[in-house]
Amino acid sequence: MGKVLIIGAGGVATVAAHKIAQNANVFNDIMIASRTKAKCDKLAAAVEKATGFKGIQTARVDADNVAELVALFSEYKPDIVVNLALPYQDLTIMEACLQTGCNYLDTANYEPKDEAHFEYSWQWAYRERFEKAGLTAILGCGFDPGVTSIYTAYAAKHHFNEIQYLDIVDCNAGDHHKAFATNFNPEINIREITQKGLYWEDGKWVETEPLEIHKDLTYPEIGPRDSYLLHHEEIESLVINYPTIKRARFWMTFGQQYLKHLEVIQNIGMSRIDEIEYEAPLADGTGTAKVKIVPLQFLKAVLPNPQDLGENYEGQTSIGCRIRGIGKDGNEHTYYVYNNCSHRAAYEETGMQGVSYTTGVPAMIGAMMFLTGKWVKPGVHNVEEFDPDPFMEQLNKQGLPWHELHDIDLEL
Ligand code: NDP
Repeated sequence: MGKVLIIGAGGVATVAAHKIAQNANVFNDIMIASRTKAKCDKLAAAVEKATGFKGIQTARVDADNVAELVALFSEYKPDIVVNLALPYQDLTIMEACLQTGCNYLDTANYEPKDEAHFEYSWQWAYRERFEKAGLTAILGCGFDPGVTSIYTAYAAKHHFNEIQYLDIVDCNAGDHHKAFATNFNPEINIREITQKGLYWEDGKWVETEPLEIHKDLTYPEIGPRDSYLLHHEEIESLVINYPTIKRARFWMTFGQQYLKHLEVIQNIGMSRIDEIEYEAPLADGTGTAKVKIVPLQFLKAVLPNPQDLGENYEGQTSIGCRIRGIGKDGNEHTYYVYNNCSHRAAYEETGMQGVSYTTGVPAMIGAMMFLTGKWVKPGVHNVEEFDPDPFMEQLNKQGLPWHELHDIDLEL
């Protein structure tokens, strides 16, 4: 039985809170804390109504502020803190966990606000301190990173002596009926997609122009979709943890309409993350004042909120790993393990679309793995460093069933 503190009250946190409350045999005490307390209260009420769980607590906290976090953690004393705020807050939350003796889990690696760049080194630097404190930090426990890394660990444990080629394929074949919207936090999403592509080959990183490499890939129950090579964070730890990998890449589908809007957003400077000065009229009409705004943050304020996309979202996501290597029998084999998730089913269960669902469910399962003693390992660890079996078992029970195909044409 465990006490869990969820930080954030956005799309992913909404799904995780529902799933945590659905598993009251593991989670018996829940708090939701975020920057805007009213959102936490609304979420707690919705979760209690949907699941029958009683007594979810809420709090306001600025997760950029270590002292505020320390005060909250000291008072609530969670067994595990589930960080579902933004990647900018990872380090402050990890620091507060260390100061108060809390275990930690997140779904995205740290990214500084003023630089569109992510890598694990900032969080891996905390390894020794977590280890010495006897605390477990679980990094990247969403779908990708998260389930894709656990699929890889499962393939290595059960099917391959040597994983040689890994392609993570992420297709969103849903239609939300908006001209342009992102499926999770627009600021984080646009930063990720507009940066240079990167993949691992023959022991080194190969850089590409943004969205330079693409090809049609066929997704189960969906068909062919144009898929673009992106830099994605799980590749960084997977090539270290599976050194037999000769090439590792990540692919994501985008429609022409999405790409057209993205190009315009970039061309007109709205994806900029540096501050610009803007002369804004005062709300009381008495004049103007010079204010500083970050164009991408302003854009986020006018784009559709990913949390509001669920109601009319049709279609499904399909995310998986396509692997080639030397099997347990010593011969070459191919393997494809994937999940398809329906946006409508996700919405009916949690009020959120499939992308939030596929992230929030694994975050809950990761916390469950820790609280049930299956994933307790002092230090800072990526999810593939834990036993994949109990996690894979829960995926089937918690709404993200997986499927395996053996010795097929991987198209890659
Ligand atoms: P949202 O923007 O919907 O939610 C973010 C939440 O964090 C909001 O409630 C926001 O509060 C809160 N927040 C932001 N800054 C602070 C702060 N300083 N202090 C306290 N709370 C803060 O994002 P999503 O739910 O879409 O995404 C959540 C996380 O999940 C992100 O890190 C994202 O990168 C990750 N993700 C991971 C995926 C995976 O597969 N691994 C896939 C999709 C997302 P407020 O509402 O007041 O702004």
